[in-house]
Amino acid sequence: MPVEALLARRLELLGLPPLTGVRVTDNRSVMVSLSPRGVLSIHRGYGWASDRVLKAVVRFVAPHVPRARRRAAEREILAFHPEEHAPPLSPGQARRPRAPDRPRAGDAEKIRRLEALFAAFNRDHFDGRLPVLPIRLSGRMRTRLGQLCLRHGSGAPYEITLNRRHVDGHGWAEAADTLLHEMVHLWQHASGHAVDHGRAFRRKAAEIGIAAAARRAVRPGQARRAARLD
Ligand SMILES: [Zn+2]
Repeated sequence: MPVEALLARRLELLGLPPLTGVRVTDNRSVMVSLSPRGVLSIHRGYGWASDRVLKAVVRFVAPHVPRARRRAAEREILAFHPEEHAPPLSPGQARRPRAPDRPRAGDAEKIRRLEALFAAFNRDHFDGRLPVLPIRLSGRMRTRLGQLCLRHGSGAPYEITLNRRHVDGHGWAEAADTLLHEMVHLWQHASGHAVDHGRAFRRKAAEIGIAAAARRAVRPGQARRAARLD
């Protein structure tokens, strides 16, 4: 049975309403989403997920699920990394060596704007104590919306990279949230905490008013999306 049929069948057995369509994707920044018409898009790597993870998918897209429960479901969904399980699509589509990640026209202006946001956030939320890092837009980030880049070995932060498609496609409010998320990681490093999504991260994120890792999933009136946010 092809992976999409098997996945649709398993989701149905786990309680997904049978009328919902299932579309299998290779989109690596949005893992699970539900269209307003009730079509579930899901990364095909979830074909390799346990029933427990797929039950979380069913809960995540079900209507009238309390917010906390939906958030818990989202955390379970994102804890599974589908791209690590799905084999390449076919020999012909196996990944070719990647093209250089070059800057694009228009990046400079967006980066200036992001640098201004960085300065304002640094002042408002971190007492201006964060070291200023270069910000770069990447066209090849797929599973992540943003990333605090740490040097191999020393673990010292050297750059904040944001996914250009995210910045261009999701608007400045979301891009600013992603930047702030990465700045909380930078704060973790600067204050001697581990750079992770643990308790220190969650406390600081709550203190400055951004929800921890997974907040962008639920937007009232819009499709439910579970996107990776490193
Ligand atoms: Zn993160």
